[in-house]
Amino acid sequence: NSQILLAKRPKGLPTKENFTFKDSPVPQPEEGEVLVKTIYLSVDPYMRGRMDDAKSYVKPFELNEMICGGIIGEVVLSDSDQLSVGDKVVGTLGWQRYNVIQESKVRKIDETIAPLTAYLNVLGLTGLTAYFGLLDIGQPKEGETVVVSGAAGAVGMIVGQIAKIKGARVVGIAGSDEKTTYLKQELGFDETINYKTSPNMEKALEKACPNGIDIYFDNVGGPISDAAINLLNEFARIPLCGAISSYNRTDGDLGPRIQTKLIKSRGLIKGFIIGDYADRFSEGIRDLSSWLAEGKLKYEENIVEGFENVPEAFLGLFKGENLGKQLIKVDEE
Ligand code: NDP
Repeated sequence: NSQILLAKRPKGLPTKENFTFKDSPVPQPEEGEVLVKTIYLSVDPYMRGRMDDAKSYVKPFELNEMICGGIIGEVVLSDSDQLSVGDKVVGTLGWQRYNVIQESKVRKIDETIAPLTAYLNVLGLTGLTAYFGLLDIGQPKEGETVVVSGAAGAVGMIVGQIAKIKGARVVGIAGSDEKTTYLKQELGFDETINYKTSPNMEKALEKACPNGIDIYFDNVGGPISDAAINLLNEFARIPLCGAISSYNRTDGDLGPRIQTKLIKSRGLIKGFIIGDYADRFSEGIRDLSSWLAEGKLKYEENIVEGFENVPEAFLGLFKGENLGKQLIKVDEE
C-alpha cells in the first residue's frame, strides 16, 4: 500500500520535495468498516493552507503523516451491513491506494445519475461551493453582470454557468486563451479576459462590463480582485470563495484598502466555507443534478494518470495547468 506523507512544510510555492512516498501493509477492515481501493483522487487549492502550521478552519496536515482529501473508491472488502463489495463510495480519505474506513464516513455513489468523477466535481464540494456561494451570497438577478475570477477552474466554471441559468450576463477571468475560448464557445460566457495578457485589468474589466459589476465571485484575490472592486455597482455582492493568488505568498500581501469603495457602493463582501452549508447540501445536489440532466450544466475535468503523479498534479493547480477539476486516476473503475 503506497501512501503520500507531508515531508516538510513549504515556504512559498510548494515543490515535490514537500511530499514523500511510503509503503505500508494493506489494512484489514473490522466490524462496521470497509476496505476501499482508491480510483480517483482530488487535489484542491485549500490543501496548500493545510501544509502550513497555522490556525485555520481545518487543522494543518501533520509532518511525516499522511495527507488526506477527496477520494472516490471501490469497496473491495466489507465488514459492514450498509456497504458491499463492489460499491463505489466518496469521502475524505488518506492519500493512499487502500483505506480502511468506517461505513458512516463515506457516501455511496449512484452511478446511474452521473459518471463517478462528477462526485468529486459538479456533484461534490466543488459544485456545492459554486452553488451556495453564488446563490446564497451573490443572489444573481436577471440582467445583472456577474464577474468570476478563476473562471476556467473547477468552481469558477460552474459559477458562470449557474449565473447564466439565472439570466445574468457573465464575464470570466482566466489565465490562458485556450481557457477563455473554452468558456465562451463551450459554456456560453458572454465575455472573458485573459489576465496574463491584460496588463491593465481595470480597463479590461471596464470594457467587458459596460454596466458595471453587480456580483464579483472571487476565487483568486490579489490584483484581479482589486480591479473588480473598483467597478462595483450599488448594492453589489462579493462572495469571497478563495484567494489562490496569495496562498504561496510570504510577504503578507497588503492590498489596497477597500472600505470606502464598499461604503460608496453599499457593497456586501462575505467569506464562506462550504462546510457551513452542510445541512443544505441535499438542496444543492438536487438542483445541480437536474441542471446536469437537462443539459444546462457541463463540467470539465483534467485527469492525470498514476498515484506517483499526485504531488505534481497538486502543484499544477498553482501554475494553471488544469481546465476544470484536477483529478488523478489511481486505478481502473
Ligand atoms: P481551480 O480548479 O480553480 O484551480 C486553481 C486555478 O487557479 C488554476 O487553474 C489557475 O487558473 C488559477 N490560479 C492559480 N494561481 C493563480 C494566481 N496567482 N492568480 C490567479 N489565478 C490563479 O481550483 P478550485 O476550483 O478547486 O478552487 C477555486 C478557488 O476556490 C480556490 O481559491 C479555492 O481555494 C477556493 N475554494 C473555496 C472553497 C470554500 O469553501 N470557500 C471550497 C472550494 C474551493 P488560471 O490559468 O486561470 O491562472
